[in-house]
Amino acid sequence: MPTPLPRTLTPCRRTLRFDLLTALILLTLAALLNGCAQPPRYANSDGAQLDKPLREVLRWYWSRDRSQADRPVQLPVRREPRATEPAAPGELSATWVGHSTVLLRLDGVNVITDPQFSRRASPLRFAGPERRTPLPFEISALPHIHLVLISHNHYDHLDEASVLALQAQPGGPPIFVVPQGLDAWFHDLGIRDNVHVIAWWARQALAGVGVSAVPARHWSGRGLFDRGVTHWTGWVVQRGGYSVYFAGDTGYGDGSDFRRIGQRFPALDLALIPVGAYEPRWFMREQHTDPAEAVQLFRDLGARQALGIHWGTFALADEALDAPIAALAAARRSQGVAEADFRLLEHGQTWVLHAPPHPAQ
Ligand code: ZN
Ligand code: ZN
Repeated sequence: MPTPLPRTLTPCRRTLRFDLLTALILLTLAALLNGCAQPPRYANSDGAQLDKPLREVLRWYWSRDRSQADRPVQLPVRREPRATEPAAPGELSATWVGHSTVLLRLDGVNVITDPQFSRRASPLRFAGPERRTPLPFEISALPHIHLVLISHNHYDHLDEASVLALQAQPGGPPIFVVPQGLDAWFHDLGIRDNVHVIAWWARQALAGVGVSAVPARHWSGRGLFDRGVTHWTGWVVQRGGYSVYFAGDTGYGDGSDFRRIGQRFPALDLALIPVGAYEPRWFMREQHTDPAEAVQLFRDLGARQALGIHWGTFALADEALDAPIAALAAARRSQGVAEADFRLLEHGQTWVLHAPPHPAQ
């Protein structure tokens, strides 16, 4: 249920208040960024750093056409007991919680990607992108999580409350795998022994899973002074003969990163690929794939099947919340990809790619 507005505050006034507040934050940011930012440490694979000058951010902000993004959209939410069941030996399945949060059942190991269970993807409690489609279940309903994959530090991917809840889960904390530089953020939360940093193209065996970091084309930043100070990454997890790729947040670039990932991991069973937050293209192209690029990326990987993520949950860009549904269908058609091979799920829906050979009695 959305929170009812106080009687004296119309939606229009609320939007205006929010706009002014955000503008104030942006302008403060502009003033501060000029002198105090730490130099970026990390870059994309071609050495490029996505460094949008603030005038471009402001140009997008002030020229935004929010009519599509603000259009009320009600996406279905599935509430099924199977969504929170633990992994069984031999099983490969994926439950879409929303945005980039996916519960993967990988041959008896429970893996979660970029856990975000909060009301907002924002540093502020009272402002910033709000969850538009409800959670199918609370974080406390998850099965015991063995492994958490974090792609980068943006608020829609790295949520402090969700990380702390997982750290305190019954049965002991999970293993967090993070890109270079992001371990310090976990240390500040008191999470030390169970955080593992993996650099691009390196691999570690953790929780019985082979975990490899692979390149993504993006950027990082959580505060005013930390752009590019920590890295961003995709992940490949392997166990029981299964391989799953999680792209994190990424632009497409010239596609060479993804062709290289496909060469290194030639038998990916499933690829989790972002399909949302892509309009307007002049501003978003470098950081977020649109559905057509997502399908091209899937073909570059040579993966067997793909699941579209990073859509339908938080309205972060200018397209409608449900726009990726039609855009992905068109992209599949024009690139000759079967509907069953690049799917979207409903929030809370589970896709069983390989059922356990010996289901529990
Ligand atoms: Zn991001
Ligand atoms: Zn994102």
